Amino acid sequence: RGAIPVPPHKRPRLTVLSGPSGVGKSTVVAHMRTVHPEVWVSVSVTTRKPRPGERAGVQYHFVDDDEFDKLIANGELLEWAEFAGHRYGTPRRPVLEHLDAGEPVLLEIDLQGARQVRQSMPDAQLVFLAPPSWDELVRRLTGRGTESPEVIERRLEAARVELAAESEFDVTLVNTSVEDVARELLALMLHPSA
Ligand code: 5GP
Repeated sequence: RGAIPVPPHKRPRLTVLSGPSGVGKSTVVAHMRTVHPEVWVSVSVTTRKPRPGERAGVQYHFVDDDEFDKLIANGELLEWAEFAGHRYGTPRRPVLEHLDAGEPVLLEIDLQGARQVRQSMPDAQLVFLAPPSWDELVRRLTGRGTESPEVIERRLEAARVELAAESEFDVTLVNTSVEDVARELLALMLHPSA
């Protein structure tokens, strides 16, 4: 009562980019950040250690296990998941603040996280990043050539399961070129598909 209804197409939208591990999500987001620094991308917290070249507060907020426990206990995470032995989560408040300010918001998270966002924010637009082909994903996952055949087989089995998640998503983008996907993703953020 009294509030001016916002037309649905004007409502700022939360966009979630997810997909199988190794498909190139973070490369797409890094490119998006360079070309469109005006687009706000959520910075996750993680308990994993920084990789060379990663800076605190840019790629991630790096925290220890106790700090991560506290974030969960205080309800400060919009979603979180364990991935390859480490925990990752999305700080809730900055996401809501940017949406409230009328800005589109992008999360780059794993499939478990995307499912949680689907539940807690049904209005979110879920974008699945798919590999150009199964062979290409196999090449990327086995690329380093240092893992045992058993480890490779386990990763491929996981990838098969992850690829099947595509049907849960609103839109699929195929990662043929980083530039093209970043452009398509931005277009979806500004003009949601559904
Ligand atoms: P990496 O350690 O390679 O940076 O990330 C590992 C995985 O964690 C990737 O699939 C990435 O998308 C996912 N990830 C990064 N941040 C978050 C987050 O806040 N929540 C969830 N659920 N997954 C995340």
